[in-house]
Amino acid sequence: MSGGAPRERRTGDGTGVVVAVDRGVCIGAGQCALTAPEVFTQDDDGFGQVLPGREDGRGSALLREAVRACPVSAISLGPGG
Ligand code: SF4
Repeated sequence: MSGGAPRERRTGDGTGVVVAVDRGVCIGAGQCALTAPEVFTQDDDGFGQVLPGREDGRGSALLREAVRACPVSAISLGPGG
């Protein structure tokens, strides 16, 4: 072990995650952009998109809500660096 504190994933504000929308699954319901507009938008075709630079979801208290709101579970929160 190299020591140091275990990596903390503070999921409440999205810190420590990488947000992604699976466009193969997304049906363009728009719930993500409605729920957490500081992280998500919709492209010209209505599909959910993570706003540029917001892939870490930092500062969004509603990120988890948006993930839950997606009717087809197209949003993933992977581990961040
Ligand atoms: S809520 Fe889900 S299905 Fe709707 S636009 Fe966002 S990612 Fe796509």
